Amino acid sequence: MIELEEAFEIIRRVRPRSSVEKVPLERALGRALAHEVRSPIDSPPFTKSAMDGFAIKAGDESVSFRVVDVVAAGGASQKELAVGECVRIMTGAMLPPGAGRVIRKEYVQEGGQDIRVIHPETADNVIPRGSNLRAGDTVLAPRMLAAQDVGILAASGFASVEVTTTPAVGIISTGSEIRSPGETLQPGEIYNSNAVQLIAQLAPLHCPSEFLGVVMDQPGPLSRAIESALSTSELVLLTGGVSAGDFDFVPRCLAELGANMLFHGVAVKPGKPTLFAHRGGRFIFGLPGNPVSSFVIFEIFVKPFLYRWMGLDWNPRLFRARLGERVHRKGTERTEFLPVRTRDGRVFPVAYRGSAHLNALGEADGLIRVDRGVSTLEPGAEVDVRPL
Ligand code: AMP
Ligand code: MG
Repeated sequence: MIELEEAFEIIRRVRPRSSVEKVPLERALGRALAHEVRSPIDSPPFTKSAMDGFAIKAGDESVSFRVVDVVAAGGASQKELAVGECVRIMTGAMLPPGAGRVIRKEYVQEGGQDIRVIHPETADNVIPRGSNLRAGDTVLAPRMLAAQDVGILAASGFASVEVTTTPAVGIISTGSEIRSPGETLQPGEIYNSNAVQLIAQLAPLHCPSEFLGVVMDQPGPLSRAIESALSTSELVLLTGGVSAGDFDFVPRCLAELGANMLFHGVAVKPGKPTLFAHRGGRFIFGLPGNPVSSFVIFEIFVKPFLYRWMGLDWNPRLFRARLGERVHRKGTERTEFLPVRTRDGRVFPVAYRGSAHLNALGEADGLIRVDRGVSTLEPGAEVDVRPL
């Protein structure tokens, strides 16, 4: 069994063979930007008005002005302003030549071809050319693209963007007791919740995923299923059959298939028997069958791996909060992830009876980490919450 940090380090060190593809911005959300992007233009591309009002020369302290032209957004006035002259201007319109300030509309009284300033304008109400970005400046560095990033790229004129590819993921559920939802359960059988749960966890990461079926706890069928999965999938996620039971054949089958075990057994709860292996550029995670384990291990190991694949480092967004209730546990030899709920800015553990208790995750909105060696966290203690 290895320490959690060691497992993270092993995942950080893998160098998967991802590539780059170009996608239109409409499909860029949630994809990883492949390279630093530089702006081809100044942004904004011209000096513009931040207000509806009247453009005047910088330093013109006149009290009344003659309106010599009108300019709307998208237009351009050619009038070279003189002292005592102004151009009626709309928000977003280009400043006329010689103009340096805009008096907002609300601060003047209009009469015929003239305006009179009735309230001192202290702001210049001008957005200078290139004040956001200059041509050649970095627009974005590699990152997972959020909605605002897509907007930022569009503002620099990009219609498409290069993103890294994600692996094709094949999912195998192992266990002779596993039935598909919708079927009728026979005595001793349970529904397969892990497969669809994993597909749902993969969806926001834009990994094409395929459920490759349920496989009985028998070495022959299991080996054939894994071999076939490795021919089509760059990442294979298996659940069940990874621990030390008489019918846990996954580690043995992987060894026989020539896979190289990167780790098997981590001091983490839930998820101790988790395994990570590779063969010929393809990777395999064996997740424990209990649905909370499968969920949590995806969050803490598979996600960072997928980020590595996409060329990014996974830094989970954590927020600090104080515990509203005491957390106590007996065993301290593993780092534990516990489901919690945040109420009025405080964090409360939800009723949780162990890794088979999937419904506990339905009550939770986050996970907290209780480190190895720690048995008690007192009320008021600060914890890092990983939102779910
Ligand atoms: P295992 O990891 O094979 O020892 O399985 C641990 C527990 O998880 C057992 O109670 C299994 O029945 C259950 N389990 C295994 N696979 C799944 C699955 N796909 N969906 C829901 N529960 C499962
Ligand atoms: Mg099993």
